[in-house]
Amino acid sequence: MDQNKEQLMVAALENGSVIDHIPTDKLFTIVQLLGLDTFKNEVIIANNLNSKVMGKKGLIKISNKFFNEAEISQLAVVCPHIRLTVIKNYKVAEKREINLPERLIDIVKCANPVCITNNEPMKTFFTITDVLTLKCRYCGKEQALDNIKLK
Ligand SMILES: [Zn+2]
Repeated sequence: MDQNKEQLMVAALENGSVIDHIPTDKLFTIVQLLGLDTFKNEVIIANNLNSKVMGKKGLIKISNKFFNEAEISQLAVVCPHIRLTVIKNYKVAEKREINLPERLIDIVKCANPVCITNNEPMKTFFTITDVLTLKCRYCGKEQALDNIKLK
């Protein structure tokens, strides 16, 4: 098999998900978030790819992995505006830009140590107050989106 064909085989997913438009400095945060270091199926991680829109970008292809809404919300919190493509039988089954949801339920930890959500077994609840700030429903603590801890 010539090299081009081999590269194509590696690049094409039969079934799985492609996360595109990842800011280059967030790529490995996402790798960690998704636990891809211990993931057993085929994973392709690429960084500093040329992008017309972004200059440089990162991209992840994950074989036989389909995200649920909670995982998609986690991705959106770490990286708003990434693009998610679902591949089924080598074809694009779904393609969408992921945007931050208006409410984040049990996705993010509250930064206030005395907040009830850090002291009781309960779900956290945040609203987005502007593009870059989250506000805890229970204690009112606001935190910057780029400085959050996931639950
Ligand atoms: Zn709180």
